[in-house]
Parts: sequence; structure tokens; C-alpha cells
Amino acid sequence: MEKATVRDLVNVEGKRILLRCDLNVPQDKNTGAILDETRIKASLATIKYLLERGARLVVCSHLGRVKTEEDKAKYTLKPVFNRLKELLPDVKISFASECVGPETEKMANTLKNGQILLLENLRHFAGESKNDPAFAKQLSLLGEYYVNDAFGAAHRAHASTEGVAKFLPAVAGFLLEKEIKILGEAISNPKRPLTIIMGGKKVSDKIALIEGILPLADNILIGGGMSYTFCKVQGGEIGNSIFDEPSVDKCKEFLATAKNKLVLPIDSVIADDFSNDAHIDVVDAGKIPNGWEGLDIGPKTVELFGSYIAKSGTIIWNGPLGAYEMSNFSNGTHGVAEHVTKSNAITIVGGGDAASAVTVMGFADKMTHISTGGGASLEFLEGKQLPGVLALLEKNVKIS
Ligand code: AMP
Repeated sequence: MEKATVRDLVNVEGKRILLRCDLNVPQDKNTGAILDETRIKASLATIKYLLERGARLVVCSHLGRVKTEEDKAKYTLKPVFNRLKELLPDVKISFASECVGPETEKMANTLKNGQILLLENLRHFAGESKNDPAFAKQLSLLGEYYVNDAFGAAHRAHASTEGVAKFLPAVAGFLLEKEIKILGEAISNPKRPLTIIMGGKKVSDKIALIEGILPLADNILIGGGMSYTFCKVQGGEIGNSIFDEPSVDKCKEFLATAKNKLVLPIDSVIADDFSNDAHIDVVDAGKIPNGWEGLDIGPKTVELFGSYIAKSGTIIWNGPLGAYEMSNFSNGTHGVAEHVTKSNAITIVGGGDAASAVTVMGFADKMTHISTGGGASLEFLEGKQLPGVLALLEKNVKIS
């Protein structure tokens, strides 16, 4: 069913619009500097469209995973606020340090046409991730319409992605609309072979995603931190590499039922510390000594993966193949990106870190599509309904 979009909001002049963006940008762990602003820039089309039509925007987003009080200072949207002001120099943008409450409502109510109020990180409030209806209701008081442009968060039923849509007429922004169109086309009739490249370190999340995507994929190339659990399950020595005990049974199951589709690393770049200054070495898979950890796929694996990539009709890539933020462990991701850009396949890169890696390494414009959603893109590709999309109005519903 097609969803209503910002184009279906006939007259937004003077209207307050609660706009959920995905401004969850990767940041330097020490300085907080924004490492890749793809998501901010990807949000601008909807922002500009609404501002040009005289809307008053209340923009909100999550940033990082906030678990403790200290995390709140670390995961603030203030750097995004500063960058947004640079990107939209002619627009008056203010910042609300509380996402909800009388003070923020007052700020939203006194916005003028063409102005923006950016709210602090939604995850500073526990009600966001719990999809607390009371929090969602409070958020809804900030707007007359709700626009969801946060494709990267659409697979989560949170207050700002799902709950709030119960209280306001809810439509999709341009980015959300575009993502669904491109990813939908890639899976409805994919050019085969369809190769999935998976990396990153959130092993349990990604294992769940492999399960969903297995029936669709012809090959799944597995690198990054998640590959070591597979390696250990097969009897390999992985030293201090990332290992996820709860995923062991699933890994065994995949190896038993889908081994012909899974392609695992055959060598690793290892280090004696999680640092760019550590001693490094390259060893065959499953031969990592105690005290060392695998932080990247090795050169033989890059070539192995390259041979599958060259034959592919469609490539969907989620997660970096090593700790690419450190130059000594970025060759795997770089090498695979080179193979991907040389292929004639339709190439879709999904997810924060893989998208950042590809962008920072200068390959972004050689890909067919860089998705702003990691988990969201994979869940969508698995055929799951995304709660943040499901909650939006259908195209044919009259919006008043
Ligand atoms: P994810 O969010 O699951 O896609 O994970 C992305 C993160 O995984 C990046 O910050 C990478 O540095 C990290 N990563 C990838 N491979 C490894 C590895 N072998 N060991 C530790 N971290 C890794």
C-alpha cells in the first residue's frame, strides 16, 4: 500500500510540523566532531521543501545509544545543531534542550514561518525507546502534522517513529519515500546473483538479520567483528576477537543449513591491542594467538570476496569489514569497496557505518544507492513491515 507523503500536505503555510529525521551521525569519540554528515544532508530535501512552503519545523532525532547519565552529555545533538546552521545559513534555527514539556511547547508555538526548532536527542528521555504513549502524546503537542523522514529508525517502534503517529496526521518525508522505492525495486525482482556483504560488530542483531535475508540471497559474504563467532563455532582460534556466545547456536544452524551461501574470511589482520599503534600481523582464519584480536579481513579474503562481487547482479552491503576507523584496519573495507565499485552490479550500501566508510573513502558516488538505514534497510529487504512506515497514513486518505 502506498503511503502519503509531504506532497499530500496541501497547505503547510504557518503550520507547525513535527519532523522526525535521522540525524544519528557518527562522531569522533574524543572531540564529538561529526565524521560523516551524509544523514544531515540527506534530511535537507524535506526540510527545505517544507520551509519554502512556509511551514514551522520542529525537528527531532535520536543520537547513539543512551544508557547512563554520562551518555547524555556524550550524545547531544548540539554538534548537529551547529552544522545545520551552517548548511542553512538563511534560516533561523533554535535548540530546545528538553524534547517535551511547557518550555519546549512555548518555543514551538512561537516559531515563525520558515523557522526551525531542533530538539535535543530523543533518547535522553526513556519514553522514546519504550514507545511510552504519554511521551508520544507530549511530542505530538509540538506539531499539527507529523512527517517521518527517519528511514534509519523506521524499523523501531519508538515514540517518535510510531507512537506519535497515533496523535497526528502522519506522512512520509522524501528520504523515507526514496529509500522504500529503491530498496523495494532491488528485492521485488533482483538482478542475480544477489550478494549480501555483512560486517560490523553487533553480532546478535546481525545474526537475526542473516536469518531473514537467507532465502533472498544467493551469497552472504561475512566479515567484520561478526565473523569470529562463526570461526570459533567451526573450531577456529580467535584470541580476543569479538565473540558473541548467545549467537553460537544460530551460527551453527546457518553453517548446517546454508553453508553453500555463506562465505567466511580465510585470513585476518590481527593486533595485540585495539589501537592503531598496536603491533599487527596477518594470519589465516582461525589461527589467532591468545592476546591478539582480529580487527580486519586479510588480503586473501578481499580477493575471495572480490571474486563473488565480480559475478554479482545485485550487491547489498551492510557493516564495515573491520575496525575501519583506524587506518591499519581499513584495508579490508577499502579493498571490498573497490571491488564493489568495479562490478557491473546494482550496488546498495546500507547502514551508518558502512555508508560512512564508503563515503569517507570516496566511493559514495560510485554506488547505485547509499541507504541511510542499516537495520531498517535489512529488515525491509527481509520483507518485514517497518513500524515507522506502517504507522503512516495511506496515500488515498484525506488529510485535514
Ligand atoms: P555495526 O554498527 O554493527 O555495523 O558495527 C560497526 C562497528 O564495527 C565499527 O565501529 C567498526 O569499527 C566495528 N568493527 C568492525 N569489525 C570489527 C572487528 N573485527 N573488531 C572490532 N570492531 C569491529
